[in-house]
Amino acid sequence: MNSIEIAERFGFLAYRKKSCPHLSLRIKGIDLHIDSKPIEGFNLITHAHSDHYGQRNLNNQRAFASVETAKILKAITGKDFEGKTFRIGDSFRLGELKVETYPTKHIHGATAFYIRDADLLITGDVKQWRELPKCRVLITEATYGHPSFVFEDEIEKLLSVAEKKVCLGAYPVGKAQRIAEILGKEGYEFTAEDNIKRICSALGIEVGDSGSKIVSPRNLKEGYILTAQRSYKAPRIVISDHIDYRGIIAMVEHCKAEHVIFYHGKASESLKKELAEMGVSCSTLKDLDLILP
Ligand SMILES: [Zn+2]
Ligand SMILES: [Zn+2]
Repeated sequence: MNSIEIAERFGFLAYRKKSCPHLSLRIKGIDLHIDSKPIEGFNLITHAHSDHYGQRNLNNQRAFASVETAKILKAITGKDFEGKTFRIGDSFRLGELKVETYPTKHIHGATAFYIRDADLLITGDVKQWRELPKCRVLITEATYGHPSFVFEDEIEKLLSVAEKKVCLGAYPVGKAQRIAEILGKEGYEFTAEDNIKRICSALGIEVGDSGSKIVSPRNLKEGYILTAQRSYKAPRIVISDHIDYRGIIAMVEHCKAEHVIFYHGKASESLKKELAEMGVSCSTLKDLDLILP
């Protein structure tokens, strides 16, 4: 479905801005840019990962991000986020539009935005979909959008190696804090690299000085890499910040969406076909053929 077809059927415009990532929406004449560069209108930042453009919006007073996203951005850059912040679960207004916020548990602060005027939910990256509201149109991710990606987190395996005081390679923003919380809750001693410690401390997660060490994947010499991706050489423990292929389908079912726009990650032909069989149409960024200067 292209931009015009979406507009005809659902009453809002989904378009792209030239040389900007992801997508923009025009609802009741208000422009919303999702995980994009600062542009005229409002920018919604789903979470603090760099490929979702929060760092580019630090000075943008018309950008919106959760309190925790702002804290992580500050821990990474040393700079304050000058946009508007909200607590996840709060609502706020963008002119006429009321925006509700929901957690996706992808990383701390990760937010889904629901716009009732268009019955539209923008999830960003997702780890848990159970608290998301129903919607007619779902704008979401497909990081693991291929049927070969079916997995479950291997928490037991993580805990059994953590006992042996090993190095654990985890992406410093998000994944590392997930691991720190799991180890902390289970009573394991652990420490972390300084950049990871800084983000943990911004979020109130305690990190000790001994035990297993959480490091960036690129600093991992010996130990385990914690990811669902298969491209690493080190021994792997599957722990993901994303839903898998089955999770994407379960989320679409849960939300009762009629149409899905995959705006991040790669939706495979199998995924599109499986959704079509469920009576759900879908678009990817390539289908959004209205490109404004
Ligand atoms: Zn992310
Ligand atoms: Zn992402």
